[in-house]
Amino acid sequence: MRVLLVGSGGREHALALGLAADPSVERLIAAPGNPGIAGVAELRQVDTADPAAVSGLAVEEGVDLVVIGPEAPLVAGVADAVRATGVACFGPSAEAARLEGSKAFAKDVMTAAGVPTARAYTCTDEAGTARALDEFGAPYVVKNDGLAAGKGVVVTDDRAAALAHAAECGRVVVEEYLAGPEVSLFVVTDGEAAVPLLPAQDFKRVGDGDTGPNTGGMGAYAPLAWAPPGLVDQVMREVVYPTLAEMRHRGTPFAGLLYVGLAITTAGPRVIEFNARFGDPETQVVLALLESPLGGLLHAAATGTLAAHPPLRWRDGAAVTVVLAAANYPGPPRTGDVITGAERPGVIHAGTARRAADGALLSAGGRVLCGTATGPDLAAARDAAYALVDGVDLPGSHHRRDIADAAVRGAVTLPA
Ligand code: AMP
Repeated sequence: MRVLLVGSGGREHALALGLAADPSVERLIAAPGNPGIAGVAELRQVDTADPAAVSGLAVEEGVDLVVIGPEAPLVAGVADAVRATGVACFGPSAEAARLEGSKAFAKDVMTAAGVPTARAYTCTDEAGTARALDEFGAPYVVKNDGLAAGKGVVVTDDRAAALAHAAECGRVVVEEYLAGPEVSLFVVTDGEAAVPLLPAQDFKRVGDGDTGPNTGGMGAYAPLAWAPPGLVDQVMREVVYPTLAEMRHRGTPFAGLLYVGLAITTAGPRVIEFNARFGDPETQVVLALLESPLGGLLHAAATGTLAAHPPLRWRDGAAVTVVLAAANYPGPPRTGDVITGAERPGVIHAGTARRAADGALLSAGGRVLCGTATGPDLAAARDAAYALVDGVDLPGSHHRRDIADAAVRGAVTLPA
């Protein structure tokens, strides 16, 4: 099978490694890709948010499957354009991708489907926002209604800061705070059949001990030894199947990757958010543990044949990824620094570029690289991931030093 992978971040590098390792994938093209992906795929330049450009490239290259990594092309309708040419595509339609593109739409679907989630109000003015904040009390949760690349959410005890964020965004969802450890569950679906991957946990705050501002994600690990038994079955039953049924009922079936972000509260799992694509950096750890061929799985979802797909096989042990971020991230990152020590298996490229003059590897984004490693247990995987990150030199970079530590110590606890 010939596959075109769309995107250029760490998630896409992890997807590229998985696709390249699948014996049924005879040719892998990535657009635009990155210097890490270049090790396993042919790169093509394309405007990933231009549906006609991406579908044109798929036809020109005669591919059998297009896999769309990031959210922006999905919301722009790239999957629709690819499917319209008759090429199979892993990724939801623009209509279905609104589960991620609009927080208010996602809440509406969850309410209609009876999915357990935080109570919420959509607010467009200061008076409405203030009323909602006061009804729920602190900590306040204010979410930008549109796509914000994982950075549109403010969780704060400071009422004035909550109001200021709402004023900046215009239209926001204000919701009740959900207390409990968070879980990311990826579900591969063709709209009807659905296959859960291993649950993972990511680290959103920039600083050790979950301090500082939110980021796109600073690290992740899987599996979750502390998760309640039966969690995945419960989430499939209470969240995933009702949501897929509601999307079909609306005439906009969701096929692709449904990312379910959950808080495990005293009342059970509650949905924090849906995304319409693989999460970054959880993909790095989940795919590191997936033994079943990735191309075959995504092709089955893209062609409506997932019900006939064999059960997934997983590797024993654990996986950890640690993100190395550029100076000033999550603020506007400093780019153009020379990176050394990155040419090792397990170093995933997230925001890198090659200098044309001499081929030197440069930082080109906020999250630059991820050290991703597996091991017989979580402690071994963590140590191996940190060894990778410690071997990289990027001036001014920073990373968290406590990824997976609480889980290694057995200190992730469920609320009583
Ligand atoms: P989101 O973009 O919706 O995933 O939000 C980003 C992060 O904000 C989440 O991973 C949570 O850590 C936090 N968050 C969002 N909504 C809530 C909530 N209702 N209660 C507690 N934390 C939340």
